[in-house]
Amino acid sequence: MSFLDYAPAPESTSILHLKKSYGLFIDGSFVKGHGKSFSTISPATEETIAEISSANAKDVDAAVGAARRAYDRTWSKLSGADRGKYLFRIARLVQERARELAVAESLDNGKPIKESRDVDVPLVAAWFFYYAGWADKLDYAGLGANPRALGVAAQVIPWNFPLLMLAWKIAPALAAGNTVVIKPAETTPLSALLFAEILQQAELPDGVVNIITGAGETGSLLVNHPDVNKVAFTGSTAVGRAIAKSTAGTGKKLTLELGGKAANIVFDDAPIDQAIEGIVNGIFFNQGHVCCAGSRLLVQENVHDEVVDRLKDRLSTLRLGDPLDKNTDIGAINSKAQLERIRELSNIGEAEGAERWTAPCELPAKGFWFAPTIFTNVSTSNRIARDEVFGPVLSVLTFRTPAEAIAKANNTPYGLSAGIWSDKGSRVLAVADKLRAGVIWANTFNQFDPASPFGGYKESGYGREGGRHGLAAYLTSSAVASAATTRGASK
Ligand code: NAP
Ligand code: MG
Repeated sequence: MSFLDYAPAPESTSILHLKKSYGLFIDGSFVKGHGKSFSTISPATEETIAEISSANAKDVDAAVGAARRAYDRTWSKLSGADRGKYLFRIARLVQERARELAVAESLDNGKPIKESRDVDVPLVAAWFFYYAGWADKLDYAGLGANPRALGVAAQVIPWNFPLLMLAWKIAPALAAGNTVVIKPAETTPLSALLFAEILQQAELPDGVVNIITGAGETGSLLVNHPDVNKVAFTGSTAVGRAIAKSTAGTGKKLTLELGGKAANIVFDDAPIDQAIEGIVNGIFFNQGHVCCAGSRLLVQENVHDEVVDRLKDRLSTLRLGDPLDKNTDIGAINSKAQLERIRELSNIGEAEGAERWTAPCELPAKGFWFAPTIFTNVSTSNRIARDEVFGPVLSVLTFRTPAEAIAKANNTPYGLSAGIWSDKGSRVLAVADKLRAGVIWANTFNQFDPASPFGGYKESGYGREGGRHGLAAYLTSSAVASAATTRGASK
């Protein structure tokens, strides 16, 4: 260690009191699942954290049954104000147990503690506070008179923001008066199970939220259960497509939040220092396991060399390692399977002729790691410019005119997000207007707020989460159809 190196600053895990094994959370208590249990591991060390139950068809049926009874007997009979009180209580308990939740999330997912502590968990609380406020105001949401809950919501979420995705799903569903069965991802069930304890502490009526763990098959059983009224899915486009097929014609209301391949567009008049930070945040936040990541950097040709040089300098200062160390910028890749996918797509990038640069950093011997990587000389037809890598890999392309930037940005099957960096407000607005992406950031990136709707175009899915729009996905009324974004939204 040299004089100027950082000393290790590990966050203590003593606040975590984990059980050796966890059951399914059904009807207000933890019960053993009838499927084959599995271990959840820390991707940074490959050590087992806890043994997790798996829900089979019988368990899924029990969870949906509990949600239905809770809907009929308790939740649908409460006033909006009373539902709101439970949501406020959950939000406050999340804040009280914030440090514990952050440690659990970083341990199970591999993300840096500074992100779980400063981004994920505060946003989880914010989501519950925000939707708590809506629970008694549904009549004023502009969704028509007397909007009604749908009933039982089946929700399936991915591993990249385990607790935050849970909040995005559960908070609006409960505020709108639905009951819930949710399945976290197989590799990151831990924070959802701690959240189940919070629901017990909040004395949420039994069965209003049921949390069932398991693999993809459990998710499939859940979304295909006949007594479910609403399906909300966040994950890959392939699985989203399968769910759209299997729920078609069943009357289940469906929202899909899928993948992305966002363009982060840097014009030559952009504040370059700010843009560098935004590019880094855009693609290296959460190891690039972000559906709205700015994975395609489109930079105006005359500033390309300067931007790339400064980016490489900045990336050379990032610290990769122990997710629980407070100085860590880049944590572990969530799973071996994901690491293999990132390696494979990066190798293809090289084979197709793009130039690969890797940040100088030592990778720990154990666990799953991938150093921040940039590809230059990328062309729009390259796989690394088209496929979602879902890792710390940036593809750099160039453009000369705004029209070319727009054409390249829209040249993707996805349409979740985009970023624009320019000194001129008029240019930002003109370009934003032509981008086919659900969320567009100007001179910033990866900003999230519960009041702001989030969702995609094209293969990034349909429906919106967050804000008033997020309520529409969980309500039925004549005006809802026009307020919610409909399939294949277009301008
Ligand atoms: P995934 O394989 O689609 O998994 C997502 C969830 O679906 C997991 O809980 C998974 O269970 C479950 N699942 C798998 N097969 C299923 C099936 N046939 N029926 C029902 N559920 C099933 O995606 P992932 O690899 O975990 O996550 C990465 C992808 O999610 C990326 O493409 C990313 O862009 C997308 N994503 C999108 C957003 C957004 O808001 N748009 C946010 C985050 C992630 P297992 O964990 O057991 O496989
Ligand atoms: Mg894990």
